[in-house]
Formats: sequence, structure tokens, C-alpha cells
Amino acid sequence: MNNEFMYNMPTRLIFGAGRISELAETPYLPGEKALIVIGAAGAMKKYGYLEKVETCLKKNGVEAVVFNKVLANPVTENVTDGAACARESGCDFIIGLGGGSSIDAAKSIAVMAANEGDYWDYMQAGTGGRKVPKNKALPLVAIPTTAGTGTESDPWTVITKSNTNEKIGWGRDDTFPVMSIIDPELMLSVPPKMTAYTGMDAFFHAAECYIANVNQPASDLFALEAIRIITKYLPVAVNKGSDIEARTKLAWASTEAGICESLSCCIAHHSMEHAVSAYYPDVPHGAGLAMLSVAFFSYVAEKNPERFSDMARAMGEEVDSLGEGEKPFAFIAGLKKLIKCIGIDDETLSGYGVKKEDIPKLAENAINAMGFLYDLTPVELTLKDTISIFERAYQ
Ligand SMILES: [Zn+2]
Repeated sequence: MNNEFMYNMPTRLIFGAGRISELAETPYLPGEKALIVIGAAGAMKKYGYLEKVETCLKKNGVEAVVFNKVLANPVTENVTDGAACARESGCDFIIGLGGGSSIDAAKSIAVMAANEGDYWDYMQAGTGGRKVPKNKALPLVAIPTTAGTGTESDPWTVITKSNTNEKIGWGRDDTFPVMSIIDPELMLSVPPKMTAYTGMDAFFHAAECYIANVNQPASDLFALEAIRIITKYLPVAVNKGSDIEARTKLAWASTEAGICESLSCCIAHHSMEHAVSAYYPDVPHGAGLAMLSVAFFSYVAEKNPERFSDMARAMGEEVDSLGEGEKPFAFIAGLKKLIKCIGIDDETLSGYGVKKEDIPKLAENAINAMGFLYDLTPVELTLKDTISIFERAYQ
């Protein structure tokens, strides 16, 4: 355990089935006119979630404008257009409604609605301009409809710059949502594959935060709990999406893994996946992580096995009867079982069209765009090591 840490989680979390209705009466809305940011695919309309949110806001005396152009992997243009829409319509706060893409885009729109220039001017890594925004972002309310990114309880927003293939996370204190309503009833409609991918994303947020060298006591508690819940309930929700108990457990696991991302941090596993989905946007983030995970975590477990037994125990794996050298690999065994159990063990990088000869380019991108996570990884990883993990993961 690290003996020095900072604890800051300023988001009001309203959690529970059916609690979306409280939008109609909550006194905590941070403004009078909202820009509701949703995905371009139309799911929020199709399932009636947008209408529900609009009706509740109206009852609460809040006007709303909808921005519905966010892509599944949001790009800088979505941020520019959304921010212009917020300014032109005089919105004083932003609501992100949907999966991680919509909420992440909403966070970046909240920054750019209040600041001049181009979004990438403020990006702190890669080819970003590293400027500091002059003004505070507009306040943000997050309403997640998937259990995965944890963006409802962290300050991070991941946006892709298409022309340079950079997919980079960024955040500040003012990009924490001021309030998040986590209603598992809004997650009942997520299809099985997407449930599996988003659930694995949350799983890796917890696992990476647990072994990151910036781990701390509170994130440790949440991380092991999220690992335990996801191992138990993700297979249930994948097989029976209408199971509200499983959806509720997973919604909390995603949110607590998001808290882990606020208190500790993800590591190079996420840098490597962002490189894959920056070049191949059809790779769902959680699928990319799962495909890289066995090679990545095996590599770390060999060099720095210290915290792996705890995670294996949280997954329900037998650890104590094993020899010292075998204990960390009980986590790898549990991980393989979970991936199989949720039916994504047959997915391969080549199946998504990733070419083997791209590996050096992907490894360089992981380090150039998201190298800051390498510093938090509990083993030293060079470009050569990164290439070798990609090669081991490649099928
Ligand atoms: Zn993630």
C-alpha cells in the first residue's frame, strides 16, 4: 500500500433502479438550460431514454437542446460542433446521456463551450498544445446507459484526433460530473456482446488501478470489490440481459471502478488498447483490452507479482494451496475463464483486421500518445517490451 495519497471524488452519485425519474425534482441541477449530448446511432431515442430525460427536465423547469452527433469513438470535430451548439443556444450546463462516448464527448464539450480555440490546444499529451483552459468547464451531469467506462465517477474524457490517429484521455477537476444518475434500468437494453465488452472495460479499470504504482487504500477496496462483482455477475448479465439484480451489481462495479480511476490510475494496458482502436475504430475498447490482457498481465505478473494474488482471490480462484511462483498466475487463469465465460474468447486482433506488420506502429503510438500511463505501470516497459506484448497477444 502507498502511504501517501490524495482523495478527491467530488461527484454526487444518485444510484438505483428507477431513479432517473428524480431528474424531475432534484434541486441539484447546475443550471437552467441543458445541452443534452447523445450518440449519433439513435439508441437514446429508440429506447425512449431521451424523451424520459426531456420530460423530467421540463417538469423541473429546465430547458433543453439536443446535440446528437457523437460517434462511437468520439472525434475532435464532435467536440467543436457540440461546443458551438452549446454557445449558440445559450446552454449553461451539459448533460451526457448514453455510453462512455457520449459522456466523454459531453465533458470535452463542457470545456470548449467555455473556452476559446481548438480542443487539441488543451490536450496535455501527444501532439496536443498543452495549454491550460482559462475558464472553468460548464457543469456536467452524467447519465450512463452502459456499465463500463466509469466516466460517471471520474474526470476523464477520451477523444480521438482522426488525422494523427491519437486517442488520448484527459481531465481536470472541473471535468468531474457534478452529479451522476446511475440507473440500472437504463442498462437493461444493452445487447449481450456490448454488455461483455463494457463489463471487461470496468474489470480492467479496477485491475489496472489495483496494480498501478499510484494505488491507494480507498481505490484498493473499490478495485477488489469491482473485480469480485464483475467476475460473478458479468456472465449472468451477458446470458440474461433482463436480470435487474445483475445489471444493478454491474452498474455499481463500473461506478466504483470509475472511482478507482479517479483515486489511482489505469496503466499501459490502456495505452496499448487506445493505439489499437485509434487505428482500427471498429475495435470496441473493451474487446481490445480483453484481446491484449492475457499477454499484458502475464508480462507484469512475471516481473512484479506482488498484488496479483489478491486479485485472483477476488475472482474466487484458489490461491493459498499454490506454490509462491504460481500464485500470481491464478489471476491469469481466472481472467481466461471469465473471457471464455462471457463468450468473447474467440475474438482476435486479426479477426478485426489488425495487421501483424502494424505492431511496431501501434507500439510507438501507445508510447507517444499515452506514454504517461507507462510511468504508473508497476514494471518498466520499453518500446521493445511493448512490441513483444503485442506479438504475444496477436492471433
Ligand atoms: Zn477503459
